[in-house]
Amino acid sequence: MRAAAKRRAALVDLAAGAGFENSFVRDLPADPVLLNVPRQVSNACYTRIEPTPVAAPKLLAWSDALGELLGLSRPGAQAVEALGGNRVLPGMQPYAARYGGHQFGHWAGQLGDGRAITLAEIIATDGSRQELQLKGAGKTPYSRTADGRAVLRSSLREFMCSEAMFHLGVPTTRALSLVGTGEPVIRDMFYDGHPRPEPGAIVCRVAPSFVRFGNFQILAANNELDALKRLADYVIREHFAGHSYADWYQEVCRRTALLMVDWMRLGFVHGVMNTDNLSILGVTIDYGPYGWLEGYDPMWTPNTTDAQGRRYCYGNQPGIAQWNLARLAEALLPLIEREKLEEGLNLYADTFNEAWRRALAQKLGLASPDEELARDLLEALSETETDFTLFFRKLAAVPLNGSDEALLAPLRAAFYVEDAAHERLVAWLRRYVERVRPGGAARAAQMDKVNPKYVFRNYLAQQAIDALEAGDASVLERLMRVLARPYDEQPEHEELAARRPEWARHKAGCSALSCSS
Ligand code: AMP
Ligand code: MG
Repeated sequence: MRAAAKRRAALVDLAAGAGFENSFVRDLPADPVLLNVPRQVSNACYTRIEPTPVAAPKLLAWSDALGELLGLSRPGAQAVEALGGNRVLPGMQPYAARYGGHQFGHWAGQLGDGRAITLAEIIATDGSRQELQLKGAGKTPYSRTADGRAVLRSSLREFMCSEAMFHLGVPTTRALSLVGTGEPVIRDMFYDGHPRPEPGAIVCRVAPSFVRFGNFQILAANNELDALKRLADYVIREHFAGHSYADWYQEVCRRTALLMVDWMRLGFVHGVMNTDNLSILGVTIDYGPYGWLEGYDPMWTPNTTDAQGRRYCYGNQPGIAQWNLARLAEALLPLIEREKLEEGLNLYADTFNEAWRRALAQKLGLASPDEELARDLLEALSETETDFTLFFRKLAAVPLNGSDEALLAPLRAAFYVEDAAHERLVAWLRRYVERVRPGGAARAAQMDKVNPKYVFRNYLAQQAIDALEAGDASVLERLMRVLARPYDEQPEHEELAARRPEWARHKAGCSALSCSS
């Protein structure tokens, strides 16, 4: 313990040494205009901009796990000032990135970091370079008509889910701190014409890069080919060393496919898979109106804005990722031959299909994929409302012999409809136990490593939000501790594994969310 603690430095101390780097700013074309008003920017990858100070920054939460990776100690008052955007430390060169994107299938033109500001990069204890980025830090030239701020509820959701995803083993941006601003933010949460003030907050997000598909798209769309090439060269040099342009694109396709398998295997629904919300590193980025499948339903979306079209529902995610990769391919046509880009899209499909077959086999505790068995289960599950997470977790406990009732008993916790017949599921379970019997007792332990017991269910998020808004951080802190070990039983926290209670079915924030954040 002492040795590790010794290596830790305070954020403010980094400023004294050669602590901060700014490779994005150093290597890429800057917006020559420094005016902080909404405007179209050209021939640039970013605009230099500082956070707008807030009234009373207060540390609400901190990720010890990430702090340790970065070699940072818990922040004192001065560091909290920096994490709230009130102080730019020496050596930091803050910027907002320029990007565009396809939103809900349509080209939306320039978007950009409208409320996110990267402060600087630091070198983590594992040698990796990590950007520190504040979300909700004030207006930038990319804010369009919005205020550059974020509310506490959405910031808490991003902070906690980033870390929960990391502990689940999913590639993701991370979150270091949650800082209350002491300032209200006006939001119309239900889009019903009743805006009201809510507490504001800022998350410090951390990732090797926050570059999205849309950073390339905006340059290609405006025919800024020199900047496009420089951005590609930078991303390859920093994050895909040794790759040709074509190899790099294919690697992005491969990583994105594996990311989709992770989301699908865990029942995670991102909710807004616009091309500006897909990371060039293949990590989960931009936690907004996301959610976790409760009752298994491929058409389910947590995003009320998407309730009509269901473009970003659970079952569409793999197809949408490929559509987004095709838009990225169009942007990269000036750099990469068409055939190579098409190869990448095929690689995406092959990688996804193969890895998804394997993931389903692992979830079922099978030594090799059995597509028919997996498909029939998913069909049976969609018949009566069954909790996706709990079903797979409890499947490990199904006895290999016994009556229908004995087979169903461990799974009861997953059923939202108490007295449903489950005939189809029982028939499936009979086939299943025959199939897994030869594998013996090792099955359960293997399954528990891939089927989490604890996920960041929307109603749990809402409970943490309600408590924190009332000044109580203990709900959040307990959840953070439990979600750091999502595959462990932790019997003392059993109630945090429970399926969504009925009171939460239609409560705002507990089942569906608007984009208002
Ligand atoms: P999102 O759908 O949350 O990914 O946001 C789409 C775009 O809108 C991004 O460019 C964001 O930076 C921007 N944006 C969202 N909310 C705000 C806000 N409150 N202030 C400024 N820009 C915002
Ligand atoms: Mg976004």
